[in-house]
Amino acid sequence: MPIAIKARAEHFRGLIVPKANEHEAAVVDTLEVYGMNNILEVIQFLNNPSLLEPCIVDTRKEFYEHQYDFELDFADVRGQENVKRALEVAAAGGHNLIMIGPPGSGKSMMAKRLPSILPPLSLSESLETTQIHSIAGKLPRDAGLITQRPFRSPHHTISEVALVGGGASPMPGEITLAHNGVLFCDELPEFNKHTLEVLRQPLEDRNITISRAKYTVTYPCSFMFIASMNPCPCGYYGDPTHHCVCSPGQIQRYLSKISGPLLDRIDIQCEIAPLPFKDISQASQGEPSAAIRERVIQARTIQTERFKNYRHIHCNAQMSERMIHQFAEPSTSSMDLLRNAMERLKLSARAYNRILKVARTIADLEASDTVQMQHIAEAIGYRNLDRSDWAERGL
Ligand SMILES: [Zn+2]
Repeated sequence: MPIAIKARAEHFRGLIVPKANEHEAAVVDTLEVYGMNNILEVIQFLNNPSLLEPCIVDTRKEFYEHQYDFELDFADVRGQENVKRALEVAAAGGHNLIMIGPPGSGKSMMAKRLPSILPPLSLSESLETTQIHSIAGKLPRDAGLITQRPFRSPHHTISEVALVGGGASPMPGEITLAHNGVLFCDELPEFNKHTLEVLRQPLEDRNITISRAKYTVTYPCSFMFIASMNPCPCGYYGDPTHHCVCSPGQIQRYLSKISGPLLDRIDIQCEIAPLPFKDISQASQGEPSAAIRERVIQARTIQTERFKNYRHIHCNAQMSERMIHQFAEPSTSSMDLLRNAMERLKLSARAYNRILKVARTIADLEASDTVQMQHIAEAIGYRNLDRSDWAERGL
């Protein structure tokens, strides 16, 4: 696709590509794209161009037709209402989120469904994302446009190059493949500590510049960062039904891997309880993704209006400190609540701005102009790891 876009820009009339890439290149309209199986066909065609018709793709039709064909839906998730709510708030404000819970509580099962409640890709985002996946050789054969937000879930053994990009000849990494979508790091503390450190800058800048002796290249990487972790290495700290076998030292080492600057870039921290049996066994379905997505889109519409004069700000999560004061300043009584909670729960100073940002999003979900007490209260609930009991364990 990037070659086809360049060919059109340079006023080429057409392009001959391998048959398997025909569809992808033909997405670029006003360019005649011919897919060929072998060199013999190319020669026959050049001798007699009337032999073949160019491949025609109705780009818009294709794009809008498949936008909502999600394989995974929140309707399949029973129980875990508080986690689903946290994911909805995250989607509504573009907030990064970490889930903390024992093995088998459904963390990755829920994370995988996040793209289904995000606002749909725009056509220009889709072109951008498709080009990235095309360059990386990640598009399936005969694929056209990517119509849904990407969900990338690298394994914790991933190398720094594979995560952020680079290599002998430059290639985009997982963070760029997640551009306009979601990067999910399951079992975050298992990742190499240095690999996690290099995530910090791209999370802040939403692009990554890689400099090697032979090249310097910048890739976009605007993604929602979702992570999961166990409460301790064995996974059962605080679990009433299992015995945790970890020593305090082991827990401290485990938690210290994600402390500080990386955690600072995560607005929502959500603890997950083991799924009670009544929730697994209940027959009723969860709320479908389409209904949740509708609320998310409405909250995002409010934010688009709010930030229309800011070129690089699209959602609440991206607000600077100054903008938080301007747009998320709570009433006096809500401010008192926040001050009390900060003291009582011994919340860190870094939690303060995050709470206001998330409260702004919760208010947007209710279409409330002002940030009110109940919005602040819910947002405080998303700071589990800031509480002093976690701090004592090593965070
Ligand atoms: Zn344990």
